[in-house]
Amino acid sequence: MTIVTRFAPSPTGHLHVGNIRTALVNWLWARARGGRFLLRLDDTDAERSEERFAASIRADLAWLGLHPDEEHRQSARGAAYEARFAALVAAGRVYPAYESQQELELKRKVQLGRGLPPIYDRAALALTAADRARIEAEGVRPHWRFRLDHDAAIGWDDAVRGPQSLDPATMSDPVVRRADGGWLYMLPSAIDDIDLGVTHVVRGEDHVSNTALQLQMFAAMDAAPPAFAHLALLTGAEGKLSKRLGSLGVEHFREQGIEPAALLALLARLGTSDPVEPLDEAALVAGFAIERFGRAPARFDEAELAQLNARIVHQLPFDAVADRLPAGMDAAGWAAVRPNLHTVAE
Ligand code: GLU
Repeated sequence: MTIVTRFAPSPTGHLHVGNIRTALVNWLWARARGGRFLLRLDDTDAERSEERFAASIRADLAWLGLHPDEEHRQSARGAAYEARFAALVAAGRVYPAYESQQELELKRKVQLGRGLPPIYDRAALALTAADRARIEAEGVRPHWRFRLDHDAAIGWDDAVRGPQSLDPATMSDPVVRRADGGWLYMLPSAIDDIDLGVTHVVRGEDHVSNTALQLQMFAAMDAAPPAFAHLALLTGAEGKLSKRLGSLGVEHFREQGIEPAALLALLARLGTSDPVEPLDEAALVAGFAIERFGRAPARFDEAELAQLNARIVHQLPFDAVADRLPAGMDAAGWAAVRPNLHTVAE
């Protein structure tokens, strides 16, 4: 089987180190198996998505050497979403609901007050056609929910986390489309994975419960789901979730004189049982195995990155740095200074 992976950022900001790691693992998996690696821009949120961020995502991937084989964007796929949506509505798997945010908030408060989990009560499913007509005549537009099948637990064998099982009865029917017609991430993503032939999805463990919901969407659309691998989250060097990591991107690393190869070599091994080594792309691809990634949070330590960077600089051949050296410095000059440097800029 040819494998197809995808990296699916929303162009609402710059990539940070966690996104870069997700992109890298998707890229490695595709390259290691002779497959394809897609870039999918999740830009259904027209207000927050910006062209400058799409451009910065492409530029960052290019700097890292993670070249996508194809690029897709969700904003261009509206017709595909409409068709699947209509079929799901006709099949009764997607239904209109009319509660306002305030009403939903109130329902949640009441449930919590009674010690119940704040799950959507499916009141909209009890509406008759006449009820809906009356509500809509009052000018209320529906939003749309995917009706979960509560009959059986949702399970999959996660390539990182192992066997997973979630009870759909503990989850709200997810809203898939807003009253203004806008799409939420969940359904378009599953439709794209089907239409683009995605076979393997690597993403952060914050998506585990989304996967359960999306598995039911694949089934409702009669499609075989991709395999899933949810990576443990990155933490700061102290082992805590760190806000700073969310702001560390390519621009920062470049300013610090970090070589793309150093960042890739570190991120390819963080959270695995393999040692961090100054390996090049080919060696990282050859040594890649998703099973090596574990469930424990992975620590991202900038000091470790700086050390690895120095080891990589010490190996850089003259040709790789010639255009960054002072005028007149030749191969012998580079070979003489190289062992003392932490960064090329130095
Ligand atoms: N746009 C989603 C995100 O960045 C994609 C998640 C996924 O890989 O499906 O969280």
